[in-house]
Amino acid sequence: MSALTVSCLRVVYAGRRPVRAVDGVSIELQPGESLGLVGESGCGKSTLGKALLGLLPDGARMEGSVSVGDQELVGLSPRKLRRLRGKQVGLVFQEPMTRLDPLMKVSEHFEELLRTHERKLSRKERRERALEALRATGIPASRYDQYPHEFSGGMRQRIMIALTLVLRPAVVVADEPTTALDVLVEAQILALLAELRRQSGTALLLITHNLGIVAEACDRVAVMYAGRIMEEGPSQQVFREPAHPYTRELMRSTISLSTTELHSIPGSPPDLSEPIPGCPFAARCPDAMRACPVRNPGEVRTAGGQRVSCWLHRLHDLSGAEREPLPR
Ligand code: SF4
Ligand code: MG
Repeated sequence: MSALTVSCLRVVYAGRRPVRAVDGVSIELQPGESLGLVGESGCGKSTLGKALLGLLPDGARMEGSVSVGDQELVGLSPRKLRRLRGKQVGLVFQEPMTRLDPLMKVSEHFEELLRTHERKLSRKERRERALEALRATGIPASRYDQYPHEFSGGMRQRIMIALTLVLRPAVVVADEPTTALDVLVEAQILALLAELRRQSGTALLLITHNLGIVAEACDRVAVMYAGRIMEEGPSQQVFREPAHPYTRELMRSTISLSTTELHSIPGSPPDLSEPIPGCPFAARCPDAMRACPVRNPGEVRTAGGQRVSCWLHRLHDLSGAEREPLPR
């Protein structure tokens, strides 16, 4: 059974002009697998992460299906979702200091969490579980009774990861978990996440704007744009031979940061409160054809194993006129 199955998920933020922040996303994660979710800011990747955790703000509507193991999350009451959060789907945040209570010792964080979610454990068992999780993340037991401020940023992130893993969730969602850390510590945290994933079979959804991290740390990658998945597949394959023009442009804009030339994709993403009948990237795509802004390309599978949403992979379904370059 998959660890996580998301089918045709839509998240709409209500308002006078409702915004479709996530627009028909489907992804699947096997136990122990890692999927990187990438895209520019505002593409819906964090909203998708929050949807999986039942952390959407009031007024957000969720449609479609999200199942963790055989538990369906869409349609559950906020109370039920809260109970599942942490236990089934764990979360690692960007800035651990904002999530750790400065007035509580590390031990008290574990105590509170385990008392809430693992009611059958004795005090001694709770302590054992906590120390085991800390040890796995490289924090010595001798520091169990210290306060968050006594740790470095990297160690606090390890503590957050231990607090996530101590509940043994099937899936961990990590939203920019290393953005606040320096490069060396970032590499250590990514190695740690990979190791823990191998040991415990936890699946990892890593949300980031950093393609380099995904190339290093993820089995697969999903590229999001305007609330939709543009391309998804094995990360090596996607980075070697991107099938979608947006992936290609995104890679160019990232890679060129390390060289002298700075490339950014011209234009800006579409207004998500307006209907988008065709490909949402059409206004910025160097390869756009007449069909692109008016017809939705749907999804096809490439020989390389990618799922891709682009007319370039369905040219035979377009007429000659529809294949002509989009006039600008
Ligand atoms: Fe570009 Fe058209 Fe493909 Fe969209 S469908 S990415 S506009 S070629
Ligand atoms: Mg974000």
